[in-house]
Amino acid sequence: MTGQAPVTPRPGTTRPAPLPVRLRSAVEDALGRPAAQQPPWRDATAVRRVRAVLERVEEVVRVEEVDRLRARLAAVADGAAFLLQGGDCAETFAAATERHIAGTVGTLSHMAATLTSGGGLPVVTVGRIAGQYAKPRSAARDAQGLPSYRGDIVNAPDASPEARVPDPDRMLRAYVNSSATMAVVRALTATAPHGPGGPHLPDGGFYTSHEALLLDYERALLRAVGDAGDGPALYDLSAHFLWIGERTRQPDGAHIALAGLLANPIGLKLGPTATPEQAIEYVERLDPHHEPGRLTLISRMGSARVREVLPPIVEKVSASGHPVIWQCDPMHGNTERCGGFKTRHFDRIADEVRGFFAVHRALGTHPGGLHLELTGGDVTECLGGAQRLSGADLCHRYETACDPRLNGAQARELAGLVAELVRGAA
Ligand code: PEP
Ligand code: MN
Repeated sequence: MTGQAPVTPRPGTTRPAPLPVRLRSAVEDALGRPAAQQPPWRDATAVRRVRAVLERVEEVVRVEEVDRLRARLAAVADGAAFLLQGGDCAETFAAATERHIAGTVGTLSHMAATLTSGGGLPVVTVGRIAGQYAKPRSAARDAQGLPSYRGDIVNAPDASPEARVPDPDRMLRAYVNSSATMAVVRALTATAPHGPGGPHLPDGGFYTSHEALLLDYERALLRAVGDAGDGPALYDLSAHFLWIGERTRQPDGAHIALAGLLANPIGLKLGPTATPEQAIEYVERLDPHHEPGRLTLISRMGSARVREVLPPIVEKVSASGHPVIWQCDPMHGNTERCGGFKTRHFDRIADEVRGFFAVHRALGTHPGGLHLELTGGDVTECLGGAQRLSGADLCHRYETACDPRLNGAQARELAGLVAELVRGAA
């Protein structure tokens, strides 16, 4: 499962057709715009060779699945369902094991069951899984002065200059690992009767997502499918759901432009500097047809800012009539340092979620979802929770390749608390 298998193009008969001219030129126009956070590849020919392979492989996900998710997300936008999304900050090739995948899927399934029974709404479950391999970095160099680790799809985390050289062949390993992970996810979440310990997915659906960050990878997984009226629609079949991160949401940049072309449902992270005017520009670019659930606005303001920064954004977007999903990421605005570790405190995470619900309850909008970094494992990366993890505990099992994740117990505890908020009892 660690990506050593050869990547074989599909037989000629089923090989995907090249994109039709209209879509190809739209994609080229989008990708011709300034793109933040792309690796400084050394060998452009090698990148093109890898892309040519990935343009012909079996896709990681299926169009029918993406369309089913679109229908489910329309219900979330209508206030009739809740969106639970979570998984590793950064997946790694080494951790693409059945045990790790089952831990993430099992934790999300347990949380979905809690939210459904306690919250009284059906839950749409989406993993940060089967492709979450690319990371944006706030600095090009790390504390030791080495080029930053940008996720396993680009370079290796080891502390040496050689490990940090961006290697285009890693995109092939990321594809193989994503497909292998997807196969495990399918086996674990098949709608056939579950064994006693199997994941219980109340609405029967489990979908995948990752940040659409590495454009050389995402563009190679684009496929033209069906007929959207004026020709085929463009799907990115690297995942069901793709989101644009806080560091790559430049309104005139390549990431926003590419996302605007996709038929997949799209997420957009909004940090504490986001303004109502920017939010309007995004909804117009990313949801021109006012499609319910097409766009998920993922606020990650921090517990101290959410009650102040989010309301004017929600008011302005609601007045525009765009039927977006409002989702809360209570992780990324609450990162702190403790004894050399990057961490987050359970209480601040819970408080941002409470603030998010309070804002939406006051405005009469639907607090539609939760976006978390979590693992099924018993890691010690976030502080607090029922186990009362302290700064001194962090060194015991701090295993993340990037940001600190809730462990299985903390994630389930948070689900219990959020279920009460969904029901309106807290
Ligand atoms: C992430 O989701 O891991 C991430 C980098 O988030 P953000 O873009 O919100 O900082
Ligand atoms: Mn993260």
